Amino acid sequence: MTDWRSLTTSFRFPTGLLIDGTWFEGSDSFEVISPIDGAVLGRVSSADVADVDRAVRAARRAFEDGRWSGKTPAERKEVLLRWAQLCEEHRERLALAHALEMGKPAREAHGVDMRAVIRTLQWFGEAVDKIVDELPHVSPDALAMVQREPAGVVGAVVPWNFPLTMAAWKLAPALASGCTVVLKPAEQSPISALLLAELGMEAGLPDGVLNVVNGPGHVTGQALGRHPDVDVLTFTGSTEVGRRFMEYSASSNLKRVWLELGGKGANVVFPDADLDKAARTAAWSIFYNAGQMCSAGSRLLVHESVHDDVVRTVLDVAATMQPGDPLDHDVPMGSVVTHEHRDRIHSMVVEGLRASGETLTGGSPVLVDSGGAYYPPTVIDSVASDTLLAQQEVFGPVLAVTSFRTEEEALALANGTPYGLASAVWTNDLNRAHRFSRALKFGVVWVNCYEEGDLTVPFGGVKLSGFGRDKSLHALDKFYDLKTTWIDLT
Ligand code: NAD
Repeated sequence: MTDWRSLTTSFRFPTGLLIDGTWFEGSDSFEVISPIDGAVLGRVSSADVADVDRAVRAARRAFEDGRWSGKTPAERKEVLLRWAQLCEEHRERLALAHALEMGKPAREAHGVDMRAVIRTLQWFGEAVDKIVDELPHVSPDALAMVQREPAGVVGAVVPWNFPLTMAAWKLAPALASGCTVVLKPAEQSPISALLLAELGMEAGLPDGVLNVVNGPGHVTGQALGRHPDVDVLTFTGSTEVGRRFMEYSASSNLKRVWLELGGKGANVVFPDADLDKAARTAAWSIFYNAGQMCSAGSRLLVHESVHDDVVRTVLDVAATMQPGDPLDHDVPMGSVVTHEHRDRIHSMVVEGLRASGETLTGGSPVLVDSGGAYYPPTVIDSVASDTLLAQQEVFGPVLAVTSFRTEEEALALANGTPYGLASAVWTNDLNRAHRFSRALKFGVVWVNCYEEGDLTVPFGGVKLSGFGRDKSLHALDKFYDLKTTWIDLT
């Protein structure tokens, strides 16, 4: 069993900007504060507009001279597989970085996040040399070729909630397709990204192919979004910032923008479902990762006839998922990402309750004396569907419960938010399962489960949850241009 606390004594990480294969001091720097206890983990360089420009120019040079795009897919695959192997070898260090900078239990980061990162690098590495182009049958007098070409320089801006998984979902397909990348991690989680990039260099990514610029979103992220020489901008984060990337693109070079944004997922529970499984999964789907998941099941829509049974089980699970130090081995939930975020969660709960609802458990910060940022599992019952807690993403361990009477009403409630990322229906009626899942307006729909997935299936949303898909072969489409060449054979 790993002693995570003792590993912290030898924990070191790069602090610069990675540009053209070299670590640079940025024009400025910022403190990284651990939400575990408020300790300062170190100072990390911050990139201003000029630094971002330097990184984009390095990525452009690396793209144009073919040092990466000119390699065969099989050669790029070898580098990605080596990178995955190094992540495996440094799995504990990378998992520890998650715990220290964003408060996720280290054991969980080691088991879940790092598994996802390693598998993503492997999967896209393995996929890319199996892709073939197209020769449609057009006419006896012509040859038409449809070829995929790497799109160029990619800006990747990612959030902190699954810092390396989200980065890997962008980096692996972008790099596999032959693009070069400038990665902008969230300012709350720069350390894990720097460690990942260091391993990427060691794995054999040529200089300039992967560049990393940390810094505040409105400075560093904006500079990347507005840069006239970025071809593709792939973003995971809030809907509010997603809108900005569309504006940056419109007012610069019309770079392609792909947005994976927020969500307001629902577990819809019918009386004929396996109620115990539904309730336990619904609880886990909002308390896991302290509810800091775009796809979190932040709404429980439950038929009135089984409301009490289901809610009782949810409360039982909540009692077992109280937060604690993420470095403890058996802690079920860590801190939330920052003290500001904890306060934001709490103010949304307070404001939400003014409109409707009754708190059944949780509802205010805990472990305040630790100096850390902890918020407990919180269940709020009788939330009216048009109020804050049913409509807005809290991004914390806060479950809004609403009852329904009919299937029609359940569907209207489930679809009745501006988001469309992911939701689940719980029923053992086959017809209803098909009917209801078809009518749910979400990019991902689960039946009698939640958060299930695989790298072979796409992930992403509709409506204000954005567009474009991570994971699966479809993710590669974001990073290729299709070129048609028509040859006259007469
Ligand atoms: P955020 O939008 O605040 O930040 C995400 C990234 O954008 C960070 O790197 C940040 O520095 C940068 N950024 C912030 N302001 C910016 C600006 N003005 N210009 C350019 N860049 C800017 O989101 P967050 O708080 O880091 O993450 C939480 C959000 O991410 C939630 O809304 C969550 O639903 C969403 N998310 C979505 C998915 C998905 O796949 N759909 C996955 C994880 C998280």
